Amino acid sequence: MGYDKLTIPSEGQKVTFSNGKINVPDNPILLYIEGDGIGYDIMTASLRIWDAAVARAYHGKRKIAWMEVYCGEKAAQVYDGNYMPEETFDALREFGVGIKGPLTTPVGGGFRSLNVTLRQVLDLYQCVRPVRWFRGVPSPLKNPQDVDVVIFRENTEDIYAGIEFEAGTPENEKLAKFLREEMGVTGFFEGAGLGIKPVSAFGSKRLVRAAIQYAIDHNRPSVTLVHKGNIQKFTEGAFVKWGYEVASEEFAERTISWDDVAKNHGGKVPAGKILIQDTIADITFQHMLLRPRDHSILATTNLNGDYLSDALAAEVGGVGIAPGANIGDEVALFEATHGTAPKYTNLNKVNPGSLLFSGVMMLEYLGWQEAADLINAAYEKTLDQKIVTYDFARQMEGATEVGTSQFADVIISNL
Ligand code: NAD
Repeated sequence: MGYDKLTIPSEGQKVTFSNGKINVPDNPILLYIEGDGIGYDIMTASLRIWDAAVARAYHGKRKIAWMEVYCGEKAAQVYDGNYMPEETFDALREFGVGIKGPLTTPVGGGFRSLNVTLRQVLDLYQCVRPVRWFRGVPSPLKNPQDVDVVIFRENTEDIYAGIEFEAGTPENEKLAKFLREEMGVTGFFEGAGLGIKPVSAFGSKRLVRAAIQYAIDHNRPSVTLVHKGNIQKFTEGAFVKWGYEVASEEFAERTISWDDVAKNHGGKVPAGKILIQDTIADITFQHMLLRPRDHSILATTNLNGDYLSDALAAEVGGVGIAPGANIGDEVALFEATHGTAPKYTNLNKVNPGSLLFSGVMMLEYLGWQEAADLINAAYEKTLDQKIVTYDFARQMEGATEVGTSQFADVIISNL
């Protein structure tokens, strides 16, 4: 495909997908969106670290061919005011794998969130957030090393589908009338704002399927379906029912439900089986503070996943370090989970950790585990040396505070 403002790197090759499996050449073309605000600082630092780790791990046999694509403020400069050029979607569809910095959501003027638009247009239905502790990272928990979960948040349904009707509008009144008169529903006040929460078998099953497959691929012991099915029976409750169905219909050989374990195996999960269990969302927050080892993968609906992601990130170092990805069947977009932190723009100050570890997830997604492991180890070594950016420095005694690019230099020298 020809592009107007984009340059396809001549030395790279496309990542491709066949039968749900990814095929990665030794010099894959990967896309990056720099991002707004602190995006330049963290992307510049992270690109250097990823390249250095790949060079170190594979001695020149493998090398990423980076291709810049545009979104947000930089896109508006390149594409004459267009924040979300069609070429960016085309390139993501064509090349399949990319990583992005944070994007400003322009205020007013009817702008939709660029992040939400990317997820919806490209149907990136899994929001994947690994939450684990790195030695030396300041944490409010006594035993942060016990936290090691991956959150699979459904990204396309639930109240995020945007089906809402403002109080006082004709649409709201029409829906309220329909509910009262035709559906016999009376349990809401006059003039209430109304929202609709769609949760489908299709949406729930594809998310839980991805979570179970991840558990298989990464030797994880359990998948917990997190829900509010005690209250919202036909949405949250149905999510759980469909989740168990996927497990029993498609992964019967590899999974076992908690019921089965309790009834037939004396409460002990048989060797080689992945436990499928479910917990109510509010209790899950408690578990993740009091006995986080009970969970390994949390698969959940959109809003629960949103709350859980930030709360759990806070247990192991906060948004400055929490990585994430939005993944569909043939496009994966890894991303820093924090925003653009505008007051720190171009100050060479912030923590590149969130973007850096999103890139580590991307390397793992490509199957380049050796390069990913090198970065994880170098990061821990750097923290052992107490060399950190401002956000950690203020929580650590005896730390040496460095800027974003100096932090990258130290990580690279520790690879
Ligand atoms: P923010 O995450 O940008 O910043 C909140 C605070 O978190 C910062 O002031 C800073 O103290 C800290 N912080 C964030 N990133 C950090 C880092 N890498 N290192 C150290 N500290 C860090 O959230 P906000 O101020 O609510 O939002 C600012 C803008 O970002 C808005 O335009 C919002 O729409 C956008 N946003 C984008 C994304 C995304 O692209 N995924 C996510 C959230 C917010």
